[in-house]
Amino acid sequence: MFQHITIGDAAIPLARLFAAMPVAMALIDREGRHVALNQALASISGLKAEQLIGRRVAELSPESGENIQNDFRRIDAGLDVPDHEITIEDRVFYVSVKPLFDGDGQAIAIMVALTDITRHKETEGQLAKANARLEAMAAMDYLTRLGNRRVFDEALAAAVRQGRESSKPASLILFDVDHFKRFNDAYGHIAGDGCLRRIAEATREVGCRQGVEAYRYGGEEFAVVLPGRSSRDAAALAQNLCDAVWDLGIPHEASPFCRVTVSLGASGYDRWPDERRDLDARLLRAADKALYLAKASGRNTVAVAAVETGAGAAEGSSVLVTQP
Ligand code: GH3
Ligand code: MG
Ligand code: MG
Repeated sequence: MFQHITIGDAAIPLARLFAAMPVAMALIDREGRHVALNQALASISGLKAEQLIGRRVAELSPESGENIQNDFRRIDAGLDVPDHEITIEDRVFYVSVKPLFDGDGQAIAIMVALTDITRHKETEGQLAKANARLEAMAAMDYLTRLGNRRVFDEALAAAVRQGRESSKPASLILFDVDHFKRFNDAYGHIAGDGCLRRIAEATREVGCRQGVEAYRYGGEEFAVVLPGRSSRDAAALAQNLCDAVWDLGIPHEASPFCRVTVSLGASGYDRWPDERRDLDARLLRAADKALYLAKASGRNTVAVAAVETGAGAAEGSSVLVTQP
């Protein structure tokens, strides 16, 4: 066995090499005692290497003492010890363990190497936070702070899928601000933005009370998804929304109502058709058709349209318009 490493004329003792290693290292026997260790490892406990020789790891950290016992059990069973992380004080270390065998193949000690990854973990945490912020921004409409079209599409698909699977209803409301172009023309685009924000806030409040989520569908159009609720529930909530916007009392001199109003279309699956394809698109089309009818019948109103199921003309075309 060699005792030195030679570099040119210099013979470096192995003990000095061990001491100079840039990672914290220790040789631990089966009793969990430090047989050899370098200063990098001793510094973790704020001690000198000499002070730790012969002392049990468990005295310094009961968790590490237990880990070492488990490591020997795994090694004796012929298994590798997976690399893992531990926290000592406020620092995080990446731990690698390798066994040392005697001539009979018995593990007599383990070599443990600890790499300080605290900085790396901090950066990882900051990245995770930044990612969560980005994800929230990607899901939110900037102007109204409601969920955007992408999240709406996902919510609608989920409501339909879950409803279909559990044989519970699912419904939808689409609504649109009345004569909004005229509002912008009369009061300016910035006032128009403010108006959309107030409608969004009122929608969020009404939705919250019913435990349902509201979205900005696009432009001056909004949507509410009602998982587990019937078209009748959707019609009732749509009427509440119609009233809530009316009650905001936002002046609109270019509207026949003299205030800002909305028209709403509701639709829902109260029973599920056998045909499974395009269920969400069909619900959306029906709500859109109802919205069109609400506009056509004078605005500031709610219309309900049944989903085209293909089961019969009567069911597919039945439309109910409610006047406030
Ligand atoms: P209707 O009652 O038939 O819905 O009439 P409308 O004037 O509301 O409908 P139209 O589709 O003719 O006009 C919609 C207007 O909404 C035009 C567009 O400039 C405005 N709009 C869409 N998005 C925004 C927005 O983010 N801010 C503002 N201020 N206006 C918007
Ligand atoms: Mg519109
Ligand atoms: Mg409009």
